Amino acid sequence: MTPDSRPEPAVPGIHHVTAIAGDPRKNRAFYTGTLGLRFVKRTVNFDDPGTYHLYYGDEVGTPGTALTFFPFEGARQGRVGAGQTGATAFVIPEGAIDYWIDRFDERGVDREDPIERFGERVLPFRDPDSQPLELIEGATDEAVRPWTEEVPEASAIRGFHGVTLLSGDVEATARVLETMGYEQRGEEGDRTRYRAPGDRAAVVDLAGADRGVQGAGTVHHVAFRTADGESQQAWRERLTDAGMRVTEVKDRRYFRSVYFREPGGVLFEIATEGPGFTRDEGLDDLGEELKLPPWLENDREAIAADLPAIGDADPEAEVTGR
Ligand code: ZN
Repeated sequence: MTPDSRPEPAVPGIHHVTAIAGDPRKNRAFYTGTLGLRFVKRTVNFDDPGTYHLYYGDEVGTPGTALTFFPFEGARQGRVGAGQTGATAFVIPEGAIDYWIDRFDERGVDREDPIERFGERVLPFRDPDSQPLELIEGATDEAVRPWTEEVPEASAIRGFHGVTLLSGDVEATARVLETMGYEQRGEEGDRTRYRAPGDRAAVVDLAGADRGVQGAGTVHHVAFRTADGESQQAWRERLTDAGMRVTEVKDRRYFRSVYFREPGGVLFEIATEGPGFTRDEGLDDLGEELKLPPWLENDREAIAADLPAIGDADPEAEVTGR
């Protein structure tokens, strides 16, 4: 065997973040209309096909850009706390924050005044379910293809900056992050910053918190990205060796995933970069139709009949919605 000169393995950053929402119409209107993200996939929760799984990202849903939702009409409101994110942050180009302040104020978005954190300007705000979100002015990655239908390119969101993880056991969560290749980069207030080596969605801030309650306005899980099935298998073994109980590989159609709950309470996923959202519809058509994996196609009629319309001009949604 030749000596291995590569650095320790590391995940390059986040793949996607999945949260819980209430009304899917309001959810879609906010993420596409107000934030200007692209609606890249309209599918169902494969583990609970009576519920939508809606994906919003850049033009193609590049790993590191997609915030996804399980919307439940009339969902009970959650309480943000340990086991979730304190905020999910998107990155915007330097100088874009004033555009967003004006946009949010015109639209009545619940926001705070900008703050500075680790030398970057941060605009905290909330979505219609009161989920805590942030826009952060910072370095953007050329690989992200901003969606500019609603927001001009100079200000458009460039995927995730990262997340603030709220942990019930900060030291144990820190050890898991380090196992995944995150390096500590500094402390400010009650948060510790960690960074993965990738060019996008590479930041994780870690802070302690009391236990949260899952429900609308809270994050369900955070997915980290890995190149392919082979590297995913290596992560599965490495994390199992580190004491995590990692699931078998699940086919999520647009990526393959394994899951484990880290000791601080947050559900982590490791997802492959591919095959991506153009697997079952063309780039121009992303998000237009309800897409189901082959193993649910036989039940399409029943599944579609049970899903609410999302409130747009799409004739299919009008026809199949209640
Ligand atoms: Zn996921």
